[in-house]
Amino acid sequence: MSKPRFATAWLGGCSGCHMSFLDLDERLLDLAEMVDICYSPIADIKEFPEGVDIVLVEGAVANEDHLRDLRLIREHSRIVIAFGDCAVTGNVTAMRNLFSVGDVLQRAYSEATVVVGVPFGNGIVPKLLDRVLRIQDVVAVDHFVPGCPPKAGVIYDFLLALLSGKKPSNDGWKFGS
Ligand code: SF4
Repeated sequence: MSKPRFATAWLGGCSGCHMSFLDLDERLLDLAEMVDICYSPIADIKEFPEGVDIVLVEGAVANEDHLRDLRLIREHSRIVIAFGDCAVTGNVTAMRNLFSVGDVLQRAYSEATVVVGVPFGNGIVPKLLDRVLRIQDVVAVDHFVPGCPPKAGVIYDFLLALLSGKKPSNDGWKFGS
């Protein structure tokens, strides 16, 4: 029997959730026995593939690239999991919602840099959305793993339960849904 195809994706987050995933250490070897890892920033595969069974999505939706990527992820995946507080609630990424996009860009690219004349709006930096969104604001989400970041043991227990066909005990954080 073929193994479930497993992916992880990284939107508007600090990568701390992926670092916590790597903290699974030797349990990663157990996981690799149970799933076929077909996409992850850790594996540096560029295109999100079709036919994914389970995907962990780290980070909130902060720019137009995230919107496009998340919609593709949803289209190509059977089970989408909001992975960590930024994906679940917006968390740190959504702190910029207190300010206008113009103010945020001004602060980041003009006031807070030592390099004079760093351009923005040049097609290299993706266009920011007016507001940072939770991933469930954009696509249907099947499961939620809260935490900033979720602890490695929590991630492992969650995935183990899911792969065994059980309802993960730490699921169900559907804020405002
Ligand atoms: Fe980083 Fe915490 Fe957001 Fe994860 S939930 S991406 S660790 S800030």
